[in-house]
Amino acid sequence: MTRFCGLIFDMDGVLFAGERVFPGAPACVAGLRRQGMRVAFLTNNSGRHRREHCAKLRRLGFGADESEIVSSASVTAQHLRRKPNAETKRVYVIGGSGLAEEIQEAGLHLSDGSPPIDFVVVGMDVDFTYEKLTIAQHAILNGAEFIATNADPIFPTEDGPRPGGGTIVAAVQTAAQRPPDIVVGKPQTFGIEMILEQWGLPAPDCALIGDQLATDILAGNRAGLTTIMVTTGINSAEDARAAPADQRPDHVIKTLAELPDVP
Ligand SMILES: [Mg+2]
Repeated sequence: MTRFCGLIFDMDGVLFAGERVFPGAPACVAGLRRQGMRVAFLTNNSGRHRREHCAKLRRLGFGADESEIVSSASVTAQHLRRKPNAETKRVYVIGGSGLAEEIQEAGLHLSDGSPPIDFVVVGMDVDFTYEKLTIAQHAILNGAEFIATNADPIFPTEDGPRPGGGTIVAAVQTAAQRPPDIVVGKPQTFGIEMILEQWGLPAPDCALIGDQLATDILAGNRAGLTTIMVTTGINSAEDARAAPADQRPDHVIKTLAELPDVP
């Protein structure tokens, strides 16, 4: 473990399930920090602002700083900010208030649904309605760019799985009769690249710890990090053995307590 300079943690299924923190997880993260390793948290959850993710991490005993958190909402906001004349663009958001806030902070205007709309951004929205779907459909058919924060089918909670952002993306995709122009979250590597750039560290000096093969581990492998799967979340050790080569983790551990023993 000591050969790594930076560790990127997925959150749900790795550190906690909903509000239930996994035993030993806070102590593991604290131990890595004490050894001088950089720590970051990378989540596909786009519903919350980084401030809210940070508050949750602190509440659950992980001494996090907002600068250590990258979400598919914050990566989406940075992606939009780099568009030409971004400050003149109007964005229609289907998603949580945290996503809208991240996009607004990046300097773009939020649309109430009236045209013109330049970008339709879709994430998990617990208040999703037929009206929102109609607005998104019309905007995309009229040429708006279709951006998905993530394509996760499942959102894990302490009460079991709930529909994830990908289910809402699928509804918009069906209505607009085309897939998103871009899916920003894992298994894309944009978030990992942002963290490595912030750290100034090369990928081989870093590891990614996640619970999902098709998102976390695939993203980590694509970006060239050492990948570690923990079986406290969605996928099992058996899943890892049966996974296609690009989704196979370098190491599988049962809990984060085993992380310091990873060679
Ligand atoms: Mg997870």
